[in-house]
Amino acid sequence: MHQLNQELKLAVIIPLYNESEVLSDLRVAVDKMVAELPAAVSVYFIDDGSRDDTLDKVLEWTGESPHIYVVSLSRNFGHQAAIAAGLDQVGEEVDYVVIMDGDLQDPPELVAEMLDKAREGFDVVYARRRSREGETGWKRGTSKVFYRILRLLTPIEIPEDVGDFRLISRMALEAFRQMPEHHKFLRGMFAWIGFSQAEVLFDRPTRAAGETKYPTRRMVSLAWHAATSFSSTPLRLAMLPGVISILIGICYCMYSLIRHLRGETVPGWTALVFLVSMFGGSLLFAIWVMGEYIAKIYEEVKHRPHYLIKLTAGGYEE
Ligand code: UDP
Ligand code: MG
Repeated sequence: MHQLNQELKLAVIIPLYNESEVLSDLRVAVDKMVAELPAAVSVYFIDDGSRDDTLDKVLEWTGESPHIYVVSLSRNFGHQAAIAAGLDQVGEEVDYVVIMDGDLQDPPELVAEMLDKAREGFDVVYARRRSREGETGWKRGTSKVFYRILRLLTPIEIPEDVGDFRLISRMALEAFRQMPEHHKFLRGMFAWIGFSQAEVLFDRPTRAAGETKYPTRRMVSLAWHAATSFSSTPLRLAMLPGVISILIGICYCMYSLIRHLRGETVPGWTALVFLVSMFGGSLLFAIWVMGEYIAKIYEEVKHRPHYLIKLTAGGYEE
């Protein structure tokens, strides 16, 4: 049994952006996890263009432990792109991959439980937050509203209170790699791929150190990409104000025709302004929504790389 366990290969992907303050705690937690897990673990730290000394510190680690790898991106490409970069780096021999935040809000102790689930035959094991300590009511509230709306918009079941902390099998990894889209919304994509999925519950602790790299502006941007990447409903909804204004317009035409036939002259300057502005408004709205999708198509057809790697190190190779 033990022999079998040792053969299991697990890669852990940890994106880091200006996480210098949390690194010492992270190292301790990661080393503990590597020692305790019944698998051969390699850890990939993805430096997402940090401006502090995050990269220098993790590069030092590669000289100390053969299981530590570093991938450094040429600039800050964002959390999701950094994870994608890590997923692309994972070698052929790896059986399972874990995606985990670097601030210890995704407790490494949970990975053992996730691995057990995976070995029962699940391809995606995601961690659902039972509680979220120290997160502002604002963040919790907006997240709830976001998932409600997303659920209405898309036919794909994207689990609530689930971040990017998850374990995926080789098969799920290969499926993910077949999705070349630019704006990656990982939790949506891992729901989209299907296969057998399971959850483990955990209480999300506060950040070990440092502060969040997800200000409201970035959360809104992620939510928007999620909605437009996983649903074309907004595009179709743009039709609604158009249809309504046409219906109102028809009624109004009939009304004025009747008045005309009765011989009542109605110059109707106010009504004209009313109609013009209504049509104008709905047209502009529809054009705006369309423009958003066209912008997305534009970005996709450019086929730009999703990230650029500045250097890679680790495994005692360098
Ligand atoms: N992160 C990243 N690039 C970014 C923003 C964040 O690699 O542009 C990393 C960050 O270092 C952390 C993880 O993504 O390991 C989650 O970020 P954070 O903890 O700030 O998000 P929150 O938990 O507040 O949602
Ligand atoms: Mg965090």
